[in-house]
Amino acid sequence: MSILDLVRPSLAGMSPYKAAEQVVDTVRLNANESPFDTASEAFRRPLNRYPEIRPQRLRQLLSTRFSCNNDQLLVTRGSSEAIDLLIRAFCAADQDNILVTSPTFSMYAHYARVQGADVRDVPLVKGEDFELDEPALVNAIDRRSKLLFLCSPNNPTGTSLPRETIERVLEIARGRVVVVVDEAYIEFSEASSVTDLLQTYEHLVVLRTLSKALAFAGARCGAVIADATLIGVLDAIQSPYALSTPVVECVEDALTGDNIQRAEAQVSLLVSERERVRTELLALRTVSRIWPSDANFLLVEFANVESVLAATRDAGVLLRYFGGELTNCARISIGTATENDAMLAAVRATETTP
Ligand code: PMP
Repeated sequence: MSILDLVRPSLAGMSPYKAAEQVVDTVRLNANESPFDTASEAFRRPLNRYPEIRPQRLRQLLSTRFSCNNDQLLVTRGSSEAIDLLIRAFCAADQDNILVTSPTFSMYAHYARVQGADVRDVPLVKGEDFELDEPALVNAIDRRSKLLFLCSPNNPTGTSLPRETIERVLEIARGRVVVVVDEAYIEFSEASSVTDLLQTYEHLVVLRTLSKALAFAGARCGAVIADATLIGVLDAIQSPYALSTPVVECVEDALTGDNIQRAEAQVSLLVSERERVRTELLALRTVSRIWPSDANFLLVEFANVESVLAATRDAGVLLRYFGGELTNCARISIGTATENDAMLAAVRATETTP
């Protein structure tokens, strides 16, 4: 079975939107653009012209960074857009379903609902490190299952799935469902990307983003990495000119020169701050548990989460509360040492207030 057999039948053979041709050193009278370039001083490319339909140099830079072939990668507006594209490519409304493993990133379920796809939840086993419930996962996959989202390191738990687990899931899923491994936070972990497994598993998709370790959330840039035939399908449904000229140039700059080294140094700093914050929080009576984290945040369980949230808010520090199965927990992103100290002081103060 080919991965294309799982794509919505109505999309079979769909070709990309035929945009106006773009050829260097030609007079462009084919795209109804303005001939007046008045707004471009801050940019290398003219803003009166449409951007490239797909940004080729950026694609090349990202393929090099994420160790895949050019034709295995599509540049997306954040990995959020990649999630949306995948669900639209595979799930027919009111028929197909996706599988998620809660607690996890809520955008998978969000975009499934937008598309009218059912969401099957196979909760992680909370315990020590939110393990995958493999027998339950096997039972949950049916003929209408199209995509299984695994997030590693997982948001909001911070825990990672061992590579062997991901490989076992890929074996189980072969010929049945596409496995999407979301590696948004992988740079903060010791684990290496599973992109190399694309050679073995045609039904593997990897998501990467520049929003976390590369510190470019405002640029909205990510990538979906998969078998070249599947990338062709996603390419056909992504909007033409999806990435704007200013974004393409700013991300190209981020991926060249000293920027990468600077980002790597920042990641090391955040990882060491994560461990300092963990140690300081664990010394507090109000903290009942902190899960191991491979990401730039900690999931912390408190005896008194309401007072922690109120105290941090009063101190001008925002934490993330999810409720549900994480009812006594808050997710705390790691900031600068000063920001982390402000958070720690506010949490500490809840232990002395009656
Ligand atoms: N995946 C995960 C696990 C995330 O936590 C996020 C953002 N919080 C995203 C994907 C989306 O990131 P972006 O669209 O900024 O690339």
